[in-house]
Amino acid sequence: MAEINFERWQQVAHFHNPLKDGKLVEHSIEVRLDPLLEHQSVFPLMLKGKASALFPPTDREYLEECAERSKNQCFLCDGIWRKRTPRYSEKILPEGYLEKNDVALFPNLFPLAAYHAVVMVGNKHCRHLDDFPAGMIKDSFSVTLEFIRRCYESDPGVIHFTINANYLFPAGASVMHPHLQILGSPFPGTHERELLERSRDYFKKHGTSYWLDLSATEKLLRERWIGEIDGSQWFTAYSPLGPNEVIAIMPSVHHFLDWGEAEMNGVAEGLAKTLSAYAGLNLSTFNFSCLSAPLNSKSTEFCCILRLINRQNVVPHYRADDYYFQKLLGSELIVSPPEELASFIRQYF
Ligand SMILES: [Zn+2]
Repeated sequence: MAEINFERWQQVAHFHNPLKDGKLVEHSIEVRLDPLLEHQSVFPLMLKGKASALFPPTDREYLEECAERSKNQCFLCDGIWRKRTPRYSEKILPEGYLEKNDVALFPNLFPLAAYHAVVMVGNKHCRHLDDFPAGMIKDSFSVTLEFIRRCYESDPGVIHFTINANYLFPAGASVMHPHLQILGSPFPGTHERELLERSRDYFKKHGTSYWLDLSATEKLLRERWIGEIDGSQWFTAYSPLGPNEVIAIMPSVHHFLDWGEAEMNGVAEGLAKTLSAYAGLNLSTFNFSCLSAPLNSKSTEFCCILRLINRQNVVPHYRADDYYFQKLLGSELIVSPPEELASFIRQYF
């Protein structure tokens, strides 16, 4: 194992502050570098303990109102999905769709890739984040992995898959009802390609997997470590890609075709617990992406990972959490230190 080096540096801003009688004040700013991709996350220390200034707590009453208003037009509620969603062809899925308990998978009407499925996650139109049961998440991953297997069997050229989620409109969801989106293509997406290439470079240089080294280092340091469940290991991101990023690594599997019960249990339990912790922080939205090595890959430089972040909370006329800093400069803001976040989420594991 090679130990991961976590790089950071400090800057100081000086100005006369009118809120402090014009006194000259200084503010420290910490910049963190992601050990693999080298993207920067910036932590202005003055924001410590002031997360609510940028992320006002969820307005639960407003959330219920939005749910009530959108429920009538929902094409997933009350079994309407059976009549109003598209079906796959005989070649890919002879049944047209996949179903398991309260979960169903069918094609996205507006695909972004050659294979783009939607998974309806449960029958409930709106859920608070402490109401995503592990069993329901496991069923969602179970139909997803079955779909990926079937796509690959019928079209062996489609080797790049990601499993994704947008929950609620501040996170980009056009449909409130909880759902996943599965993308499958012969080509890797931008972030996926970068991860695969950098992981390959790391493997060539060190002879070990970056992801296993990262996980082992985080476990040793304990600062950002959350815990292990079945086939998954959980910790907060040193240099997050979004607010409150939590990373899960599935150390024994390189791509989605390798997943067994242990990985499905681990991801389902870990997500349910982390989302409950998010609810404990009064957050209401999230995005996640679960990534895999190419399905035909035999190499061990990459293992399946999941990145989870929250987005702006549901409040009327909310302010977007992404601006030039994230969208155009590719940096991220740290509002809550990852070390404190890990210590909070650990209570839920
Ligand atoms: Zn619905």
